[in-house]
Amino acid sequence: MQIADRMAEIRFSGIRKILEQVNLLEKQGRHIIRLEIGRPDFDTPQHIKDAAIQALNNGQVHYSSNYGISQLSEAICNKLETENRVTYAPQEVIVTAGANEAVFIAMMALLNPGDEVLIPDPCWVAYHPCATMAGATPVSVPLHFAKGFVPQVEDIAAQITPKTRMLVINTPQNPTGVVYGPETLQKLAQLAVEHNLYVLSDEIYERIIYDGARHVSIATFPGMRERTVIINGMSKIFSMTGWRLGYAAADRPLTDAMIRIHQNTMACATSFAQWGGVAALNGPQQPAEEMVAEFKRRRNFLYQALQEMPGVRPVHPSGAFYLFVNIEELGRSSEEVAMHLLEKAGVAVVPGSSFGRFGEGCLRISYANSYENLEIAVDRMSRALRELN
Ligand code: PLP
Repeated sequence: MQIADRMAEIRFSGIRKILEQVNLLEKQGRHIIRLEIGRPDFDTPQHIKDAAIQALNNGQVHYSSNYGISQLSEAICNKLETENRVTYAPQEVIVTAGANEAVFIAMMALLNPGDEVLIPDPCWVAYHPCATMAGATPVSVPLHFAKGFVPQVEDIAAQITPKTRMLVINTPQNPTGVVYGPETLQKLAQLAVEHNLYVLSDEIYERIIYDGARHVSIATFPGMRERTVIINGMSKIFSMTGWRLGYAAADRPLTDAMIRIHQNTMACATSFAQWGGVAALNGPQQPAEEMVAEFKRRRNFLYQALQEMPGVRPVHPSGAFYLFVNIEELGRSSEEVAMHLLEKAGVAVVPGSSFGRFGEGCLRISYANSYENLEIAVDRMSRALRELN
């Protein structure tokens, strides 16, 4: 039996090795503090669960419109208008099975085989495989520690060829937690307009943001609405990763194409989960705000603690729930250091190389774990790092 050729380009996630080792150690009875986690450690707020339970009990168990239930489409349009200052009609929004599906259908619908997609690297793990599945060529653009992992327009411009069709941006960013300021976004927007590029703008962490940083959607800059696909969802801010609820918003010709991929793969997002999504967007925001406040408290603690650790230089993050730390001074690969921390300290973190080749030399440390566990982790990590230094 032969597996499709494209699979040669689609590898297992780099985090797998760490997870396998975590499982092994946990089976042996070791206490592992899990800081490799990419999801909030909070429960979904009760009013959101209640809305989904009620929808189930009311018989909302059938297919919905491919676009999503009208109540959710309206809630998303309203949110985009009031929070992001971009106007979309309901058929310019597609409710998807998580933001991940939104990325996939955008790339499938907008890219031709051979098109090049510029992806600042290190980055979230699914952009490269989604581009590859669409037959396109993902092109990594390096993000530099020395530049605070903010994308440099010259670096992006240097990679543009006649085949470049799309630029991916993600702010607040996974894995670095860096938030792109309006000046950076404006330069990127200008570049996209000049070179007639689509921009896939992944804004899933937009509300997990600190220190008065403000999230701005690149779709608001001149000439950008018609070329931007906004990707967002409920997973992170409402702690709903298992619900699989996200969305894409874009100009009508783009959603007209994307909906045909969605229609023939997912058909629709889960019907009763969508009712939870309505409650999430239209209901009380206090639980989300409390979660962000707690993330901020943990970030402050962890950033400070990491600054004092030997051989480790953290980048100050203004968003998401990750710290990206440079470990080059330790003179080992990110995988070696991650394995050392796991085995010696019982702390799981992700090697930077899992997020692309320019993530090497760094580790991603998530603070989606309790403050108490972070305190223990810091203590254990300091000791284990001293052994390496
Ligand atoms: N985009 C980014 C930047 C992410 O970090 C993640 C999940 O980790 C996703 C998208 C996927 O979100 P969802 O769970 O809604 O598919």
